[in-house]
Amino acid sequence: MDYQSTRSDRIRANAAEAILDGLAPDGGLYSMPDFAGIDLDWKAVLAMDTFGMATEILSALLPSFSKPEMADLVQKAYAGKFETDALTPTVPVGDDTILELFRGPTSAFKDVALSMLPQLMTAARQKCGVSDEILILTATSGDTGKAAMEGFCDVPGTRIIVFYPYGGVSAVQQAQMATQAGRNVCVCAVRGNFDDAQTGVKNIFASVSEKGLLSGRGVRLSSANSINIGRLAPQVVYYFRAYADLVQAGRIAIGDPVDFVVPTGNFGDILAGYFAKRLGLPVGRLVCASNANNILTDFLHTGRYDRNRPFYKTVSPSMDILVSSNLERLLFLLSGDAALVKDLMERLRADGAYEVPADLKAKLDAIFWAGCCDDAGTKAAIGQVFRTYGYLCDTHTAVAWSVAQQYKAAEPSHAPVVILSTASPYKFPAAVLEAIGETEAGDEFAVMDRVHAITGIPVPKNLANLKERPVRHRDVIDRSEMLNYVLEKATKKEW
Ligand SMILES: *Cc1c(COP(=O)(O)O)cnc(C)c1O
Repeated sequence: MDYQSTRSDRIRANAAEAILDGLAPDGGLYSMPDFAGIDLDWKAVLAMDTFGMATEILSALLPSFSKPEMADLVQKAYAGKFETDALTPTVPVGDDTILELFRGPTSAFKDVALSMLPQLMTAARQKCGVSDEILILTATSGDTGKAAMEGFCDVPGTRIIVFYPYGGVSAVQQAQMATQAGRNVCVCAVRGNFDDAQTGVKNIFASVSEKGLLSGRGVRLSSANSINIGRLAPQVVYYFRAYADLVQAGRIAIGDPVDFVVPTGNFGDILAGYFAKRLGLPVGRLVCASNANNILTDFLHTGRYDRNRPFYKTVSPSMDILVSSNLERLLFLLSGDAALVKDLMERLRADGAYEVPADLKAKLDAIFWAGCCDDAGTKAAIGQVFRTYGYLCDTHTAVAWSVAQQYKAAEPSHAPVVILSTASPYKFPAAVLEAIGETEAGDEFAVMDRVHAITGIPVPKNLANLKERPVRHRDVIDRSEMLNYVLEKATKKEW
């Protein structure tokens, strides 16, 4: 099975090339044309341990890699890195099940994909005969940068530079990044906001390729964000893991549908659920949960995507997003029509809006349900879940919890519900503490201690000693200096 651009049937690549390139040259995303050629015995997969599941699913989705090769990459990516080798445990809470995706090295769900991507990328580099070193550039609003550095830390043949907005991330996130170890990692604050950092990175990619600024230097730029198919594919695995857990717990029989509620930003996580469904897993409804930036709720209700609206900063910042890149892959897979997708994306660029045809809207309706929850509702959900069940969830998970209750009330014949939990509550301690009825005058570390004192829930190890760890990265630059910063770093042998 080959990959192709979502915007053209003529632009094709194998899985290894798609991973190495990240984005298709016409600006489309790499996608398989359909799922017809994929060979996966989903029932057999359910009987495996998580590493076995990952090997089967990833080698089916990324056929450039054989099963033994993939087994080796999975081992390198995950062994000993997560709290348990199950990677993503499920916890029954009330009538529902919470799927904890945050038990990895940086306590964010992005660890699941960003532990695997560096392995896939270095293996793809060998397969494609690329001898250049890969330099990953990433702009981050907090979570992605840390998880990417941890994933790429000391991976041979790669280096990574992360830019974040100066003063624009939480104290915990800042400390997580500034104390990052590794010979091949570099973190730099940019004076400006997240959009400035992100635009700066996009401009660097454009300048470097137009002017050939790095040609002959033995360096090739790449990106670690979720448009890369190598970041999406590893997320399919935990849908199978959760389903198998429910079977093993006797809550369902093999073949029964399960509904999944997903706190959604860039649409990567929930799209992985759609992949799982197409691979045969009995996924019932995929419920898309948004915060006050409810552009996806409106889209799934009306068929019209319209980014001409205010942008809100919320207590679930990883979902503060108006253009969900991975939605493009869904539109392509549902329509099978690259010309249509190209046209819709052109309208999004020109007018900031598009509307899907009625037949496509009907297909969306059959699979998805959507709801949203504002900051007050988010905090209310954290407090209620904690008081009722003694379970403490983070702000993003709380959005999903709240939307799950809306969904169950609206659709009484729903299947058993799994709610995806995307971050540790200790990553967003201030909002969590307020939600359980207290405020704390001190810094974010004092707030963490207070949440721990009240709830007794252990602070993840990687967050616990953050304050004492030595600061290794102190660079702060202006936006205008980003390109030169990268060029200088790219040509230095040792950082
Ligand atoms: C990135 C992120 C999300 C959104 O996931 P998408 O794949 O972008 O939809 C939700 N919660 C947290 C904590 C995240 O870091």
